[in-house]
Amino acid sequence: MHTETIAIHAGNHTDEGTRAVIQPIVLSSTFERDANGEYPKGYIYGRAKNPNRSALENVLAKLEQGIDAAAFSSGNAAGMAVFQSLKTGTHIIAPDDMYHGLRNQLKTLFAGILEFDFIDETNLELVKQTIKHNTGLIWIETPSNPLLKVSDIGSLVQIAHEHNIKVVCDNTFATPICQLPLTLGADLVMHSTTKYFGGHSDLTGGVLITSKTDEWWERIRQVQEMGGAIPSPMDCYWLTRSIKTLPYRMRGHVHNAHLLAQFLESHAKVESVMYPGLESHPQHELAQKQMLSFGGMLSFLVKGDVNDTAKVINAVKLFTQATSLGGVESLIEHRALVEGPDTKTPKNLLRVSVGLEHIDDLIEDLSNALSVI
Ligand SMILES: *Cc1c(COP(=O)(O)O)cnc(C)c1O
Repeated sequence: MHTETIAIHAGNHTDEGTRAVIQPIVLSSTFERDANGEYPKGYIYGRAKNPNRSALENVLAKLEQGIDAAAFSSGNAAGMAVFQSLKTGTHIIAPDDMYHGLRNQLKTLFAGILEFDFIDETNLELVKQTIKHNTGLIWIETPSNPLLKVSDIGSLVQIAHEHNIKVVCDNTFATPICQLPLTLGADLVMHSTTKYFGGHSDLTGGVLITSKTDEWWERIRQVQEMGGAIPSPMDCYWLTRSIKTLPYRMRGHVHNAHLLAQFLESHAKVESVMYPGLESHPQHELAQKQMLSFGGMLSFLVKGDVNDTAKVINAVKLFTQATSLGGVESLIEHRALVEGPDTKTPKNLLRVSVGLEHIDDLIEDLSNALSVI
């Protein structure tokens, strides 16, 4: 089946009791035993399993072309489940511009428990040199945040698997509509479903999706069930509902982002634009090869200093100045200020989550904002 069809049907079960077309929300935290003391439907207790969560996990697994998925209450909880599933002392290789929330999680909560190196994973030689006897995981995030760097999933998988190292790919920026890391050999895909899957900036969630149900996956299921960082039935329902339109929303995001990137690239007050779909992107060829389409995120450098950049962002009217991404409304963010004093992000960088408004309105708003400097 095709993606559009999966998105609509794989997360829904017509209710046998009432014949309700849309699967009901099951809020019950506990389920009744039968006379033998068994649970004939497989549901025992809400933390372990819930019908809305099962439906959500099914559609997420199918969209990524995986075989199973585990849903969490946030993207960070999904990432944490991976780190908690590793043996103490495992060495992780992660990108130098890894999502700052997960990078901080490693540095703060896993210091002394796991080892890690944050490096430029677009440099495959450097990745090889960083592998140690205890390296157990290569964490990939591509396109990266906020520089939109593209790293080579297939080559990283090859290097990792030659050394018996697992690969997890944070696919939040791309979504399975734009990139399928499991088909390129990754062992797990991770998402913040808060972003494009939710798509309306009104819930938080995360997921891990696997290509095989091995011992490691069993361990991750244990972290999910025993740790209990699970999404509520309501959140599972809203997410499943949003996912039905994901393929169509992504088309709109990609269309608008590409046109906005081209507009910005030709603008006199813009130093450069980072969007994998532009020929000027340093890894454009690789992006063409490994991505199905180029996503809805872009960053650009204002021709000016930190103050000019602040002037531009304060002059936008239609874009909302806020963190996060993937919603129907366009957001813009002065990233260096969000990431704090130790960030390497350029001070004149603005990151844009291109929404689904009309492209002419988006261009007009940024055009007006850039005219103030
Ligand atoms: C937002 C985000 C996360 C973390 O997800 P939360 O839902 O905020 O916990 C991880 N990776 C990327 C790329 C993100 O954008």
